[in-house]
Amino acid sequence: MKIPVDIEKYKDDHPEDVKKAIHFAIILKRNKVISVGYNRLAFPHGGKFTTHAEDAALKKAGKRARGAIMLVFRIRRKDRSIATAKPCYTCAFLMARAGIIHVIDLYEEMNK
Ligand SMILES: [Zn+2]
Repeated sequence: MKIPVDIEKYKDDHPEDVKKAIHFAIILKRNKVISVGYNRLAFPHGGKFTTHAEDAALKKAGKRARGAIMLVFRIRRKDRSIATAKPCYTCAFLMARAGIIHVIDLYEEMNK
């Protein structure tokens, strides 16, 4: 599958409050980006809880997420390389409920 997203564009586009790797979740519909989410510390919880990228992207997309595809990946801070990202159980549930029909792990897709 051709990924209709310029990943380079996102490598510098991340919050400073995330230390190790930046998780991204991009929602695509008809090959167009409709929402981008990344992991963030969820204040005011003392920086211990994070908002997951998938959850953030779904919140931004709202009802438009129905029937869409989600692309997930991580960008490592130390060398800006792309790494695999698997949605956690909670996010998987939220994605199913929102109507996401397919999830693509960018790293796996690139290394096929
Ligand atoms: Zn999650």
